[in-house]
Amino acid sequence: MLSYRHAFHAGNFADVLKHLVLVHILEHLKRKDKPFCYIDTHAGAGMYALNSEFALKNREFESGIARLWRRSDMPAGVQRYVDRVRQCNQGKELAHYPGSPFIAATLMRKDDRLCLYDLHSTEFKFLHRLFEKDRRIRTFHADGLVDSLGLLPPKERRGLVLIDPSYELSDDYRLMIESLKKMHKRFATGIYALWYPVVERQRIRRLERQLQDSGIGNVALFELGIAPDSKGRGMTASGMAVINPPWTLAAEMQRELPWLADALGTEKQGNCRIVNLVHESAG
Ligand code: SAM
Repeated sequence: MLSYRHAFHAGNFADVLKHLVLVHILEHLKRKDKPFCYIDTHAGAGMYALNSEFALKNREFESGIARLWRRSDMPAGVQRYVDRVRQCNQGKELAHYPGSPFIAATLMRKDDRLCLYDLHSTEFKFLHRLFEKDRRIRTFHADGLVDSLGLLPPKERRGLVLIDPSYELSDDYRLMIESLKKMHKRFATGIYALWYPVVERQRIRRLERQLQDSGIGNVALFELGIAPDSKGRGMTASGMAVINPPWTLAAEMQRELPWLADALGTEKQGNCRIVNLVHESAG
């Protein structure tokens, strides 16, 4: 069942969006001099070699991070995300791409905490090795959707839960909404970011309705596409549904997503969407 390996996709245009939003949210949490807790329910291996046979199979990073690597005209927020990637390449050639746990680790302070889950035994082995010496970071070889409920609310009472599944099963969308409802019940003031692929637009419209009907308030969507919606062309866009987004996020995305759509779009067909899906008072 667990056949997905993120190494095939590391650094693609979906990772760019996901990790850009991640950097913004963590930077926002760092504005207060109080620790945060970051929970990554689907953490992956943590770091990916772009010269591995996995990454080279479809070379997805070439239409993602590689297109930004040599640009010097990026909006400031995009530049800060790219700087995280530079940090694990010692500022040289693009050879490694950091996963969400590593990006979060580069942003954490001495009292912040990271709790990272992965169910795949090989991915977990890499993840665990990467962070075993850092006492601020705990790794769990367990189901992140179920096990992380026991961590909520975190003692810091502030933090982010990133939910980044591979959607291998058609029931996964429903499962994510059910999990979000349970998490939100325990920790209503937390920030939650759910990544989703846009393969078939109808599926995403259903996800939006499920979010609207969930009883959770204050939900925004941020999408980045490299081609128009289409059936049968695979993933043309991806999005992040963010619950309790930092108040600065929408304005930052307004500045950065059109620029990224232009930089990453195929044949000038890049696009983006920013939607205030559920208002704050609706929860
Ligand atoms: N978040 C990572 C990043 O941005 O670098 C990528 C994660 S990848 C899309 C999804 C990961 O979730 C895979 O490594 C897979 O093994 C893992 N996984 C799948 N179901 C899981 C579950 N229920 N709990 C924890 N991990 C799971």
